[in-house]
Amino acid sequence: MTNVAIIGTEKSGRTSLAANLGKKGTSSDITMYNNAKESRKMVFVDSHGYPKALKSLITVLNISDMAVLCVPPDGLDRNNPASVHTGECIVALDLLGFKHGIIALTKSDSTHMYAIDELIKKIKLMTAGTSLQDWECISLNTNKSAKDPFEGVEDLKAKISEISEKIEAEQAELNSLPTRVFIDHAFNVTGKGCVVLGVVKQGISKDKDKTKIFPMDRDIEIRSIQSHDVDIESAPTGTRVGMRLKNVQAKDIERGFIISDKEIISTDYVLECTISRFTRAIETSSVLHLFVGLQSEPVRVEKILVDGKEVKEAKPGSTCVMELLGNKKVAYSKEDRFLLANLDIPQRFAGYGFTK
Ligand code: GDP
Ligand code: MG
Repeated sequence: MTNVAIIGTEKSGRTSLAANLGKKGTSSDITMYNNAKESRKMVFVDSHGYPKALKSLITVLNISDMAVLCVPPDGLDRNNPASVHTGECIVALDLLGFKHGIIALTKSDSTHMYAIDELIKKIKLMTAGTSLQDWECISLNTNKSAKDPFEGVEDLKAKISEISEKIEAEQAELNSLPTRVFIDHAFNVTGKGCVVLGVVKQGISKDKDKTKIFPMDRDIEIRSIQSHDVDIESAPTGTRVGMRLKNVQAKDIERGFIISDKEIISTDYVLECTISRFTRAIETSSVLHLFVGLQSEPVRVEKILVDGKEVKEAKPGSTCVMELLGNKKVAYSKEDRFLLANLDIPQRFAGYGFTK
């Protein structure tokens, strides 16, 4: 199953596009749209809580295999204050090393051919050398009263389908790894108990599995699994699932909790970091926002080391080792990529890192 993130700046046409691709389901700061009727099952996730909240963007990206970046006609216009967020989305995708995606040039009915060509040139310049450099640009609209209504939407669907074939092959390779399920929603259902929604990030999750939930580090059992509202016995990598859990209450589960046999739990981190070229220097004692999986929290920069020597600041475009201190327990695995953000500046993403 392919999970598709629909991202972009405010008013970039994200919700209109997502609503065109699937039927609305669960909604919080992110909204799921399912295409349950089609043979190739997909979930499209609208990150509508962004740009106000970075968490909405990162959550959507970390539960997805592919992204559709929506860029409206004025999406890179210097005079448009919202354009900083188009750039911010590109920085986020690049820092995450996000492989698969498409750039949707939205609202094609409200612009001109030559303007679209100019926009594509700008995008190509901005994304050169990033993980988005080979992403295809597709011009489209979702306006039924346009001269050319829904122009480009079928092209987009075809391209998504083409990419999802590659994604399914990649997911199949992850089935042999230890099972990890990222939880994005948890609630109590009368008569059913604790229900969580999330995505199988690796391995195969099975009905009646005895496993654990982190960072609680508590033994649980999977009572049942559903996908697209149908009961299933096992959920391979990539499946968006609903699960009933035994021995845990929904009120104790937060977004980002992980169902897995083993995770690292920590409140402080030593990360090998790469600082973005598009941020400010990061100083010791400053506060950054840390994201890993679907978890996030503020952390204090305790120490910065370059070539083993302590320094006062980490410069944009450089690499360093950063010691960070947080408050709450966070669960992760050695291969997980951490993202760092500075919430005080317009383009908020600051860098990424892995634990040493
Ligand atoms: P979001 O904030 O990114 O979710 O953007 P929306 O999907 O809510 O769209 C923002 C505004 O643009 C709304 O008023 C939409 O009706 C309008 N809009 C979205 N897509 C199109 C389109 O393809 N053509 C035109 N003309 N307007 C659009
Ligand atoms: Mg919206």
